[in-house]
Amino acid sequence: MGIERGTELIRLERNGPAVTCRLRSGDGTEETVDARYVVGCDGAHSTVRAQAGIGFEGYAYPQTFLLADLEVDGLEPGAVHTYMTGSGMVFFPLGSPATWRMLAMRPPGAPDTEVKLGLLQKITDEYTPDRLVLRDPVCMTDFRLHNRGAAHYRSGPCFLAGDAAHIHSPAGAQGMNTGIQDALNLGWKLALVCSGRAPAELLDTYEIERAPVGRSVLRFTDRAFTIGTSRNPLIRLARTRLAPRLAPLALRATGPRGRVFRTVSELGIHYRRSPASTAGSRPPRKGPQAGDRLPDLPRGLQARSAGPGWHLLVSGPPALWPDERLASLLPGRHDLISVHRLGGESPWPDPVQGLVRPDGYLGYVARGAHLEGLRAYLERWLPAQHG
Ligand SMILES: Cc1cc2nc3c(=O)[nH]c(=O)nc-3n(C[C@H](O)[C@H](O)[C@H](O)COP(=O)(O)OP(=O)(O)OC[C@H]3O[C@@H](n4cnc5c(N)ncnc54)[C@H](O)[C@@H]3O)c2cc1C
Repeated sequence: MGIERGTELIRLERNGPAVTCRLRSGDGTEETVDARYVVGCDGAHSTVRAQAGIGFEGYAYPQTFLLADLEVDGLEPGAVHTYMTGSGMVFFPLGSPATWRMLAMRPPGAPDTEVKLGLLQKITDEYTPDRLVLRDPVCMTDFRLHNRGAAHYRSGPCFLAGDAAHIHSPAGAQGMNTGIQDALNLGWKLALVCSGRAPAELLDTYEIERAPVGRSVLRFTDRAFTIGTSRNPLIRLARTRLAPRLAPLALRATGPRGRVFRTVSELGIHYRRSPASTAGSRPPRKGPQAGDRLPDLPRGLQARSAGPGWHLLVSGPPALWPDERLASLLPGRHDLISVHRLGGESPWPDPVQGLVRPDGYLGYVARGAHLEGLRAYLERWLPAQHG
């Protein structure tokens, strides 16, 4: 079964441990589908969230934003143009259905009526000394931003991911990123549970791991939005005078840009308090810990740990890791785990065993070659399949 575009979920009903879904296709025909699990990736107005009875708590910001897809004469093509004057204004190179997407805050005092080209041109004239001419709008609209999070990411067989679970201001550009992380976190767990390879309790770790990330994104974007829209004279000065001078310098310097981008985009995400990320009795003294994301590591290691499935990384003298010792872990799960012996690229100074989950996070890590802790982890989350 693939993606069915144009099909709408109109009703959900709990049916014992499963869910009965009423679907309506584009031509109006309806059908009923019984599902073991349903994931609501259906955006801010999520039907799944509403029908599963999950609250969506938070508030709307008072500001209104104007958005238009249109043509602009006078802008250098192919680049984002940000104007920090006034309440701020951005032109994104869209391409289709219009060359530009304009985004601006409705200026204080501007009438709260239908968005017209005249208002957008007036804002543009005020905010930039460049002579920009706006024309041929394909769409013009306004919207308000919210800061809201789902009270739970799961209710029985129903899960929420993406904007269905959290919405916030685009300051920091984290909405889509966070939603993709949700889906990545849930996807491998559902795949293992539905194929009978992992216990159903693995799905409980979805909310444990992702809800704190959602909350931290709501806090982060709220701070960024408050600074970005503040009318405090000092903050305005920093925003309109300092930021335009410093931002291009920061963006030109590739090193800092990488660091800034990583810091913002990952917001220090880790799952160190999750039962699906545990350390052995002797955790590493340095280097990544259980719950940290492995692809942050040097390139060679990234390449080895990337891809679906689990990856067992071992480091230290080869004598510590004879083939038979490692092979003893694999019966009944060899199709899901690949083993990698690390040399100088190991991020741990000591001999270490680390099990990387399919989403790239360290599920288990311990110093030394005793395998009891790792065996217990595997028995819990990836029990051996025999026969
Ligand atoms: C101005 C602006 C700028 C942004 N910039 C960034 C950025 O730079 N970086 C970033 O990471 N994020 C950004 N975002 C946020 C990002 O756009 C969203 O977080 C992201 O699109 C959410 O994806 P989603 O799939 O969860 O929800 P949506 O994109 O809302 O998709 C939900 C889908 O579900 C469908 N659907 C709804 N109800 C049903 C139903 N009952 N049955 C079937 N289907 C249904 C909808 O038709 C839709 O296709 C920005 C947002 C805005 C408003």
